[in-house]
Amino acid sequence: MKITGIKPNMGLVADKPYYDRGRMEPLTFAVLKGLTPPEHEWVLYDDRFEAIPYDEATDLVTINTEIYTARRAYEIADRFRARGVKVALGGFHTTMIPEESRAHADAIVIGDAEPVWAQLLDDATHNRLQSTYQGCAGGTGSLDDIRTDWSIFAGKSYLPVRLTQFSRGCINQCEYCATGNIYRKSHRCRPVSQVIRELAHNGAKLVFFVDDNIVADKPQATQLFQALKALNIRWFGQADLSFATDPAFMDLMLESGCVGLVVGFESLDQGNLSQMKKNCNLGFESYDPLVKRIRQSGLLTWAAFLLGYDNDTPETIMATCDWALSKKFAFAAFNILMPYPGTPFYDRMRQEDRLLYNGRWWLHDDYRFGMTGFQPRHCSADELAQACLDARLRHNTIPQIFRRSLDRKTHLRSFWSLATYFAYNPLFRDELLKKHGMKLGYRGQERPVNASALPAYLGNASNPSPSSK
Ligand code: SF4
Repeated sequence: MKITGIKPNMGLVADKPYYDRGRMEPLTFAVLKGLTPPEHEWVLYDDRFEAIPYDEATDLVTINTEIYTARRAYEIADRFRARGVKVALGGFHTTMIPEESRAHADAIVIGDAEPVWAQLLDDATHNRLQSTYQGCAGGTGSLDDIRTDWSIFAGKSYLPVRLTQFSRGCINQCEYCATGNIYRKSHRCRPVSQVIRELAHNGAKLVFFVDDNIVADKPQATQLFQALKALNIRWFGQADLSFATDPAFMDLMLESGCVGLVVGFESLDQGNLSQMKKNCNLGFESYDPLVKRIRQSGLLTWAAFLLGYDNDTPETIMATCDWALSKKFAFAAFNILMPYPGTPFYDRMRQEDRLLYNGRWWLHDDYRFGMTGFQPRHCSADELAQACLDARLRHNTIPQIFRRSLDRKTHLRSFWSLATYFAYNPLFRDELLKKHGMKLGYRGQERPVNASALPAYLGNASNPSPSSK
């Protein structure tokens, strides 16, 4: 059987399909390929830079859905199904709101696919697909059988960093977070030896662990970091602030090759953090001593903020931006709060009659990327969106990028740190600003299959036409 995997794009910029120059490997497909018996053939199309060959022969199309790509995923699914191709949908959005995905699929996978993937393929081979495959729910099930097969990305253009996963789930359950509410405080780790063997065999030298919180299980993380030392790699990951409270643990992280972390500060307001149920950030009188320690370690920090909780105003958002600038973070994300269906935050907004776009902003014709999907407490939805955009602009002016680079403890610490800082700051800045105002979905504007129609910066080789494959 031939399986076609598709990573959907988000939508249209200036009525043309968006090209994300900061795109990373869609790890889900490497995991699915690793789970697939060898008799099946795989092909992957990444809608973020490739045309989808709707007429190419295939037996099963499988599409990964996230909330910002759901509309586009349904467009692709509907088009394949119109010519009789079976389509399976899975991913976070399908798991959170299965009844919506079911209307666009022959089969949906709810939860983690590992325990049901082989069954789904067998059923597809014998033309007896079931409408629903219930994968691991609520964070149960072992991760021992994961075998990441990155060969599926051969010949495709992504940022030069290998993605992998050590653990899945989260020990917190923040009000707004899809991950927290799918896994419901459960957190599981893969065997350390398996992760190390895969990375050693792959030979990757720069790795990003996609784990929501790589330090959630400290004893397991300690084992991983000890073992990583032998690989002599550089790695990035995501972590809650607890790592910065333990100097010995931080030292071990650095020895293991950690060069940077995404850290969710989310808000400077304790009331907001309480309302979020962001328990891992509560109890610190101030972030300042922790940030000081992180800076002294030399780690590059990607600081993430979530803006729009009930105590926020345009003024507090600017104050948050100023605080971030004063800390000279390598990168900062000023994310607008969004109501994701299936989360307590979404339910609360519905109960308080504060949802906008009929409560389905991700499908609504008028929604644009960067807007919010609910009525904030102390300002209008437009004022919140503008304040978040202003924070992004202020943090990313060319003078500010240069000013932040002049930090001897972090960005000037080594040539590699400085090169990384300057390679990615302009890139992320451009993509952030380009995405603002994007329409979700393609609305009939398919990407041209003619490679010469691509933007020059991608080059023709990065998108061979389907007929050349
Ligand atoms: S800590 Fe992060 S991943 Fe965990 S529930 Fe909260 S927002 Fe989600």
